[in-house]
Amino acid sequence: MTEGNCITGTYDAFNRRVNYLRISVTDRCNLRCIYCSDGEISHLGHNDILSYEEIARITRVAAEMGVTHVRLTGGEPLVRPYVANLVSLLTAIPGIEDISLTTNGTLLEAQAAELKAAGLKRINVSLDSLQPDRFTRITGGKNLHDVFKGMAEAHRVGLSPVKINMVVMPGINDDEIVDFAKKARDEAWHVRFIEYMPFDGAGAEPVLTVSEIKDRIETSAGALWACCLNGAGPANYYSFGSGEGTIGFIRPVSHRFCGQCNRLRLTADGKLRPCLLNDLEIDIRSSIRNGGGEAELKALLRQAIMAKPERHYLEEAAVGGRQMRQIGG
Ligand code: SAM
Repeated sequence: MTEGNCITGTYDAFNRRVNYLRISVTDRCNLRCIYCSDGEISHLGHNDILSYEEIARITRVAAEMGVTHVRLTGGEPLVRPYVANLVSLLTAIPGIEDISLTTNGTLLEAQAAELKAAGLKRINVSLDSLQPDRFTRITGGKNLHDVFKGMAEAHRVGLSPVKINMVVMPGINDDEIVDFAKKARDEAWHVRFIEYMPFDGAGAEPVLTVSEIKDRIETSAGALWACCLNGAGPANYYSFGSGEGTIGFIRPVSHRFCGQCNRLRLTADGKLRPCLLNDLEIDIRSSIRNGGGEAELKALLRQAIMAKPERHYLEEAAVGGRQMRQIGG
């Protein structure tokens, strides 16, 4: 235990313990999901994004400050070449206990085994429709079958639990809520329903709340019972009482969970982002490229942790700066 740290995290100004780092490895994505990208795709150049060694260096310092959990995200993390090499570098860092990855699953089949061998523990797959045509429409042209193959391979190699994240969008895919729930009930899927976050600000988009989603499931698929599934995140889990599948609800909008927020974000271009839904960012790339030593990196990490706002203000104001694709969710 070092000064200012708890054994597993550094406390922020609101007494929240920060022990989880979400790392965006690229802003590039092979999908164009209707809600995630506004069509303006300006990609960062090769020199703009942090190298794997730079990411590992920042993570090593973060681990010394008590970060134990790391999640790789993007853009689509699996479009960046050799991402398993980054997993190997992170696995070797003392104190990092859990490395997971969030993916759209389309490139997973070919990479699941090497990711597992490199030390990746778990995987989340974002999937918003079980209907091939609709999936293609939502994602801008990809094949649902590739995602299913990726999920099966992840399961086969032991990247488990494979959690499925569905962003519920009224009028677009909310008629599939019960179909997803039945996958949990009948096929042991771990499905998490995520409230759509209107980056455009309060009331810009219609939001279906978790209580409405839960009502629909219980009416058509059976009663849900509170249960528990491992993870470092804010989901509330339920099961149907039998079978191994689970249903999770993540409700950033209707049930703000900022009081339990334990995370810090690192963007692909080397900015520490204290809050997903707040545009404040702290540049750590300049420090690392200008010869900043460990003490300087630690000070920047601490500054970012202390800058975490008490809560998000999504209801009051839009998130102006970046799209979700550029932050990593
Ligand atoms: N490409 C990876 C993937 O598809 O999982 C990682 C990046 S993606 C930006 C991370 C997650 O953010 C996905 O689950 C996506 O559905 C979710 N997401 C994007 N925009 C969102 C929004 N406005 N509200 C809620 N979730 C959103």
